[in-house]
Amino acid sequence: MENKYAIEYRKGSKWNESPDCLYKFMECKECGAFEKVCEDTTAVTCYECVNEMCDPPEIKTKRNSGKPSGWHFMKIFVDKDGNVYFKGVQQPKLKGTIPPTEIKKKKRLSKKEKQKYIQEAAVKVASLKKELKGLRWKKDKKIVEQKIKNYMKVMNGKFTESLVSKLFS
Ligand SMILES: [Zn+2]
Repeated sequence: MENKYAIEYRKGSKWNESPDCLYKFMECKECGAFEKVCEDTTAVTCYECVNEMCDPPEIKTKRNSGKPSGWHFMKIFVDKDGNVYFKGVQQPKLKGTIPPTEIKKKKRLSKKEKQKYIQEAAVKVASLKKELKGLRWKKDKKIVEQKIKNYMKVMNGKFTESLVSKLFS
């Protein structure tokens, strides 16, 4: 079988190659650059051409924007430089006209606090269930059932800020 592409044998030069061995190189079928190949390779595309054919990998980095999570959902958010955003859309004309939005540090619950909330939630669920039995109307039942659901979430370890403040304040 005749090779369609030029082949060269080169002495090893890289850290993972032996200088005493010959390595087979073949020209890239796209650009002609020599690329190291296996003995039975019949055609090769060099890494540069591969890169050109594929989209670059999407690299997601966590950027610290200095903005709180969910800032783009806020009706008005003003960053520390005075940039004003209405629901995440910058309002260049308003820059500097509104004081920066105060960013509240999220407070994390300690294990003890969580434990306390779970206990309280269990007590609440028990009493709400009793209350539910005495209810006659569907719409009243629905309200209590929703409450039970929310307390159950806490019992299952869900401690979002909104949930906790709604249930325990
Ligand atoms: Zn190439």
